[in-house]
Amino acid sequence: MPDEKLPSRTENFSEWYNQLVLRAELAHYAPVRGCMVVRPYGWALWENIQKSLDRRFKETGHTNAAFPLFIPMSFLAKEKEHVEGFSPELAVVTIGGGQDLEEPLVVRPTSETIVGYMYSKWIKSYRDLPILINQWGNVVRWEMRTRLFLRTLEFYWQEGHTAHATSQEAQEETLRMLNVYADFAINDAAVPVVPGQKSDREKFAGAVNSYTIEAMMGDTRALQAGTSHFLGQNFAKAFDIQFLDWNNELQYAWTTSWGLSMRVVGAIIMTHGDNQGLILPPKLAPIQVVIIPIYKNDTEKSKVMEVVSNIQQDLTSFRIHIDDRSELTPGFKFNDWELRGVPLRIEIGPKDVENSTVTFARRDHPGKAGKSSVSRTQLSPRVAELLTQIQTKMHERALAFRQSNTCFLRDYQELGQAVQNGRVLAWWCGREECELKVKEESKATTRCIPFEQSGEEGKCIVCGQPASKKVYFARAY
Ligand SMILES: [Zn+2]
Repeated sequence: MPDEKLPSRTENFSEWYNQLVLRAELAHYAPVRGCMVVRPYGWALWENIQKSLDRRFKETGHTNAAFPLFIPMSFLAKEKEHVEGFSPELAVVTIGGGQDLEEPLVVRPTSETIVGYMYSKWIKSYRDLPILINQWGNVVRWEMRTRLFLRTLEFYWQEGHTAHATSQEAQEETLRMLNVYADFAINDAAVPVVPGQKSDREKFAGAVNSYTIEAMMGDTRALQAGTSHFLGQNFAKAFDIQFLDWNNELQYAWTTSWGLSMRVVGAIIMTHGDNQGLILPPKLAPIQVVIIPIYKNDTEKSKVMEVVSNIQQDLTSFRIHIDDRSELTPGFKFNDWELRGVPLRIEIGPKDVENSTVTFARRDHPGKAGKSSVSRTQLSPRVAELLTQIQTKMHERALAFRQSNTCFLRDYQELGQAVQNGRVLAWWCGREECELKVKEESKATTRCIPFEQSGEEGKCIVCGQPASKKVYFARAY
């Protein structure tokens, strides 16, 4: 249905987003409220995200494993903050095979508990450490307000779980993986992010410290795109993960966990998309180049298609697709692939065949401005060059947008209005009281305390008391 116009992105961002997800065939609503079906195009995008992250996980020494979907209810209760944080969102199985279960099972909302239990069996000595395991899987959190990709009852993600002999090593791991996420977001998803620490109120239930990469969407709202948690010895004590150290003394291990979910697909859509549809970063796009043959009759067709098949040979190192649907007009196809966000389109008509050229159209520059004619002998290097340019431009554009929608404030009176139109950096004393006041009065939350700080002192924007850190306030997804 690409001939049907999308709702305007500027006038109704939310409806634009929902319609775009459906029409670009990324996902569909499932029969159960709050669940979604990820369609092949959406899954192909997720697969590229997976590959891109998985490579980084392996490079940093991690291996993949799979833990079970069901967790005994009693496991969750072992870590007090963890159970308080997750209880309201649990899906619980009480009947199995037609019989009441002796102990109810929760469908994992996250796997710290089951992993902790297993680690207590596997870790006996310092020689068993560190353990660096990642799992790709799905989890269930019974959310009340849901949104395709951004918040669904069941979602796909990866969760890393590591155990270490020292606190320092675990803290280094926590930040290493946050950097991996930031590197992925910036360089592959072209989504600018700010790495920083979560406030105590916003941190993961059961963590000592939580860190996040925060992104800004096209409507200026914030989105937490990945988190990494230093769990201290909280889960080690709850699950008795102990080891004999170098002095043959029994110690509790130090653990971390870190996760990035499919909501990053939502981040990509909302960071880059425009009124025509998606704009996918070349490094992750399921199709990097779409080729559209243009002809009026069979004679033209056979000439054009011959060149198309030669071009296909030249471009084997890219993810390409040839749209040879004969029942559709080129104009329809242009709109269709623009809606789906393919970064680069190649048009080949009889004129191009005659001149040994092709016509390029860039998705990030719709219309004439993004068109160019290229000699066929230059094709492959030129495609590589253009995809790199598009990737860079997308990040630059998003970065410029974020900068123009961020302000530094000292006056609390201005905060309420400012967070309606963007992100605010301000001094904060660190007290929950002040954080809550902002939330109640303007619906903005503290997003993160960025690592990058000036080292100066200021006055809390809410209470005026001395503050040593600046924090980002924003309304968030
Ligand atoms: Zn304060």
